[in-house]
Amino acid sequence: MNEYDIAVIGAGHAGCEAALAAARMGCRTFVAIINADTIGAMSCNPAIGGLAKGHLVREIDALGGEMAKNIDATSIQFRRLNTSKGPAVRSSRAQADRLLYRLRMKAVLENQPNLTLCQATVDSLLVANGRIVGLRTSIDQEIRVRAVVVATGTFLNGLVHIGLKNFPAGRLGDAPSTRLAAWFKDQGFTVGRMKTGTVPRLAAHSIDYSELEAQYSDDPPAHFSFASKGRYTLPQLPCHITYTNERTHQIIRRGIDQSPMYAGIIEGIGARYCPSIEDKVMRFPEKGRHQIFLEPEGLDTVEVYPNGLPTSLPLATQTAMVHSIKGLERAQIIRPGYAIEYDYVDPLELHPSLATKRLEGLYLAGQINGTSGYEEAAAQGLMAGINAVRYVQGKEPLVLDRSQAYIGVLIDDLVTCGTKDPYRLFTSRAEYRLLLREDNADTRLSRIGHRVGLLDDDSYNRYLHKEEGMAAGMALLDAVAVKPTAAVNAALAAMGQTAIKQKNSLTELLRRPGLTIADLAGLPLDPTEQQDVAALAQSPVKDEIQLQIKFAGYIERQHEQVERFRKMESLLLPDDINFKTLSGLSNEVVEKLSRVRPRSLGQASRISGITPAAISVLQVHIKRLKA
Ligand code: FAD
Repeated sequence: MNEYDIAVIGAGHAGCEAALAAARMGCRTFVAIINADTIGAMSCNPAIGGLAKGHLVREIDALGGEMAKNIDATSIQFRRLNTSKGPAVRSSRAQADRLLYRLRMKAVLENQPNLTLCQATVDSLLVANGRIVGLRTSIDQEIRVRAVVVATGTFLNGLVHIGLKNFPAGRLGDAPSTRLAAWFKDQGFTVGRMKTGTVPRLAAHSIDYSELEAQYSDDPPAHFSFASKGRYTLPQLPCHITYTNERTHQIIRRGIDQSPMYAGIIEGIGARYCPSIEDKVMRFPEKGRHQIFLEPEGLDTVEVYPNGLPTSLPLATQTAMVHSIKGLERAQIIRPGYAIEYDYVDPLELHPSLATKRLEGLYLAGQINGTSGYEEAAAQGLMAGINAVRYVQGKEPLVLDRSQAYIGVLIDDLVTCGTKDPYRLFTSRAEYRLLLREDNADTRLSRIGHRVGLLDDDSYNRYLHKEEGMAAGMALLDAVAVKPTAAVNAALAAMGQTAIKQKNSLTELLRRPGLTIADLAGLPLDPTEQQDVAALAQSPVKDEIQLQIKFAGYIERQHEQVERFRKMESLLLPDDINFKTLSGLSNEVVEKLSRVRPRSLGQASRISGITPAAISVLQVHIKRLKA
């Protein structure tokens, strides 16, 4: 059969989520990948999550995606980051067994009903009357479809650099995608060039760990998926920490003329937030050392990923540099570090649904949109998959806004502001981050995931059950009160708390810094109430309840800000608006508005260079249309 509803090109992190979403939502889905052994491959570090990225993984899970389950099943180290900081910026990160991560994801795709996997290189898409109608592979196979999600990562015109040598590749060891890259240019898409880099991989048995600091998994480790429970199935391994030193930096400085970046061979713009080691050394000469995490790549491999050491210097310089570092004096390099340049499509070409403005039925997701990172890719893949299905079904697209999810922040940033260097997410990019926490991703998104037909009934019922538990817990703390008796005040004093002078509900007491639900269970309460509060102190929802109560004031304020934000978002601009005809807008503003074509006044206000005066002009126009 050569007819499907949807085709997904690429089965990296974006492609896997897009394909699973489409198939799970009932569409006959065709997935093309250049090499079927690389489904779900981690091109760079063997880890999922991290600051803000952990939020994305939980949001993907809450909507019905796969990434969280996949990392939970294959994790060899789990850590909660920023636990001493505010709740908004706490994030999870897990090391994966690289091979198992890929194999499990492959098995999930292989066993997914409605999904057909095919090892094929797509060379072009078929278009009729401005719509996508199919694709053609390098062996002239034609597949008819109604929508396509392109998730080709770093493969479009990929060019690998090691020292002054370079060669076409999608990733080291993988063929690039050149014909599809040419197709995008032929169709008139605005295409740019970016670059990213990775570290050399080292052999564990050649590393001297004896004097290096070890970093262990949290115990017990938590999970990414709201469905996961219990301990991890795989053994948890430590990472180790070492540092570069002055000698390392000297070696880098001496070899810098052999760096493709510094020799001017690389044109693509690199990731600002993930610079190569040579970049760090040249840009921050005052820094005497840089931290390196030695991360195991899996249980059945000796390969170690020295996180912090991305480089594209020649292999001989890489070797000298590695050998100058404590513990790595005899380290053997199994795979060299390298940089890759690739084409990306300007994300201003996209609607917030991730559909292209240029061709109907074409969706782009992942690194092709100028982002960097597995999680950013997976989040876009999921949304592109959902929206391709909704397009095929004739439904309105699903667009998450900036107050609902980090996914909304990510996509809104891309389609409103574009990006010139590889975009990665940070918690600081979100305005309402106290509302967008990792712990409440299910509260924010499970209903939506279930409504669109992606989150399965079991997961949704589990979420509803949790909500009931939260509501009951909050009601209990509201209902139970303590009077200012000598026994209560003595118990509070023993907890280092000041006495109460009037009746207080447990909710009121819990607002005090330092008090937890477990502490409240230690107060002299009526025996039944005490039992209920003690049970609540053990329940999985206790942390979230505590947080809701302690931060209630701040949360309320953010909700008020969200109200104002939503008002601006609800002021919609007509699809066919001609900005040139509005008097009072400068040529520059007209050019920017025409390029982005914002959906709402809110989105218009976030375009860089759009002045408050221009917003007033648009506001007046919207009012006139309504009158
Ligand atoms: P990928 O995971 O690259 O998947 C692309 C898929 O498309 C592959 O399955 C490929 O086979 C398929 N494909 C391509 N063309 C075709 C075609 N024509 N037909 C059929 N299939 C096709 N991220 C970070 O966050 N930090 C880093 O430091 C970092 N460093 C990196 C270093 C290197 C060298 C590389 C290669 C990547 C790095 N990344 C880094 C990026 C990270 O790997 C990507 O962001 C992520 O994998 C993107 O996911 P994706 O799904 O968009 O693409």
